[in-house]
Amino acid sequence: MSESTELEGRRFPAPEELTAQANVGPDVYERAAQDRLGFWAEAADRLTWAQKWDEVLDWSNPPFAKWFVGGKLNVAYNCVDRHVEAGHGEQVAYHWEGEPGDTRTITYAQLKDDVCKAANALVELGVQTGDRVAIYMPMIPEAVVAMLACARIGAVHMVVFGGFSSDALASRITDSGAVLVITSDGGYRRGAPSALKPAVDEAVGRTDSVRNVLVVRRTEQDVAWSEGRDLWWHDVVDRQSTEHTAEAFDAEHPLYIMYTSGTTASPKGILHTSGGYLTQVAYSHWATFDLKPDTDVFWTSADIGWVTGHSYIVYGPLANRATSIMYEGTPETPHRGRWFELIEKYKVTILYTAPTVIRTFMKWGEDIPAKFDLSSLRVLGSVGEPINPEAWLWYHEHIGGGRCPIMDTWWQTETGAHMITPLPGVTSLKPGSAQTPFPGIAAKVVDDEGNELGDDTTGLLVLTEPWPAMLRTIWGDDNRYVDTYWSRFGKEVYFAGDGAKKDADGDIWLLGRVDDVMNVSGHRISTTEVESSLVAHPTVAEAAVVGASDPTTGQGIVAFVILRGNAEDSGDELVQQLRTHVAKDIGPIAKPRQIMVVQELPKTRSGKIMRRLLRDIAENRELGDVTTLTDSSVMNLIKDKLPASS
Ligand code: ATP
Ligand code: MG
Repeated sequence: MSESTELEGRRFPAPEELTAQANVGPDVYERAAQDRLGFWAEAADRLTWAQKWDEVLDWSNPPFAKWFVGGKLNVAYNCVDRHVEAGHGEQVAYHWEGEPGDTRTITYAQLKDDVCKAANALVELGVQTGDRVAIYMPMIPEAVVAMLACARIGAVHMVVFGGFSSDALASRITDSGAVLVITSDGGYRRGAPSALKPAVDEAVGRTDSVRNVLVVRRTEQDVAWSEGRDLWWHDVVDRQSTEHTAEAFDAEHPLYIMYTSGTTASPKGILHTSGGYLTQVAYSHWATFDLKPDTDVFWTSADIGWVTGHSYIVYGPLANRATSIMYEGTPETPHRGRWFELIEKYKVTILYTAPTVIRTFMKWGEDIPAKFDLSSLRVLGSVGEPINPEAWLWYHEHIGGGRCPIMDTWWQTETGAHMITPLPGVTSLKPGSAQTPFPGIAAKVVDDEGNELGDDTTGLLVLTEPWPAMLRTIWGDDNRYVDTYWSRFGKEVYFAGDGAKKDADGDIWLLGRVDDVMNVSGHRISTTEVESSLVAHPTVAEAAVVGASDPTTGQGIVAFVILRGNAEDSGDELVQQLRTHVAKDIGPIAKPRQIMVVQELPKTRSGKIMRRLLRDIAENRELGDVTTLTDSSVMNLIKDKLPASS
């Protein structure tokens, strides 16, 4: 048996101590299956409603859903005020750590005061219910305060990742029609202040909806100032009253727009609304991570500019009264042990991160985490891409100390919250598989015609029932919403765009984007499987695989690999070894035609590999849209590696 399939066969039963006290047990699946809407109604009861709903779901006009029809609530009140009213004002909401080492401790009582002041400031600036507010900020507490202030007054926030260019910001401002931009002079990245305000100035100069720019002072860099338009946060927000009465809004009131990361196509403005979204993020955060608000210290390492940051740094954790970590900087500043130092310092109990980070840690070597006390950890999570079994195992051993279950959570910007994931006190884990649809979620694997497939087959992932945190539309483009997600198999089936396999036990394995699935001599081969096989080889830290058109086989497999820190690049010999390894592991049909050792891979700013650009390279084409790429020079480095003939 080959290395990666051997790993795939291993099971990690739920730890007994965890099962004994877990928030949810195995019965949850049956309860949800028997009465799906009743189950979600119960989950919604965890929130505080100003007015109870009349109907759980209105699905009379698919694919346009309404959840908790007639219900009213204020999202910010649910995230902050109610915890203070219940006597938890002194509990820490965020342990914030700046990259240079400065810290802030923010209690729920302080957060309430800050959010009220910011809400009053927005009102003073003429921001009205339903207006869009762009937030372009580093990972500082004011970013959360700004989001909650918008939610509090019913304005729709649209957070743009601080690493995006002025182009990306401008197109999102235009598309959403934002009236205000909240930003900062800059933030700290890789040991130096990095400016944000210039990009805002450029973007706002090219758009016409923005009236004001509200600027938080963080780095004290010099900034250009547009009198009348630009305002300092400390001038406008600090003098406001800490009293603000939160109005209750309709359950379907828009909460935010978030543009997808642009891995496969140009970004789409995903619209999320209030009641259903908050219900599912709060419930899933509590169930998937076994969150105990009185004792856990929770850390989602994502940036607030991604949906993971929205759902699992801000809304889920706050609705559950969690204590969270928020870290401004990069994992290697000032040294490669920074994250582990933070886990040790704050006694983090739950860590939620992405496979790209784990593979980077693998590349750096296990002696780094070994230097720190990580014994406080009890549950781990993964999101963003399929996690290769080898990376899973490394995470489990070298970060989780062999004792922490890993929740491999499959979901999307569009789904708002976890959709397929194990549960920590319930599931016997399989490295590399997201395994089980979340309670109350209907996920299926179907063939090209939409017929449900049995176990041990490969097909397309679909969601066959609406869910509370689902996107409601693409901002300003109902047609694109219907076409993109709800047309392939009819208006009541959501097509996720991902390929999936069901194994003999019925567990689900995500196989990457449908657009990325390769066809070699008539065989469908998943990029994820070939990548996992390569990563299982002791020399490989990271791999990206694409299908390039091939005159004889239709498509040929081209692989790009990054070696582990201690591995030697023996050139041709290594390449032959790796090709043979994959052929043995998966089968001769999966043997890569070409393998290139590279230093970096093209990634979106959220850390996902952009295979479509590698395909462009492998097929000698002009590169497609690179605006969401972290570092475009990476593409030149890779191109230089290519033999001229391929
Ligand atoms: P775009 O839709 O603009 O191309 P994107 O799909 O990368 O961008 P996101 O919504 O951030 O934007 O990512 C969702 C996708 O990430 C999923 O469709 C899936 O391909 C992948 N993904 C997320 N979590 C997992 C996971 N646990 N296992 C496998 N794949 C995952
Ligand atoms: Mg997507």
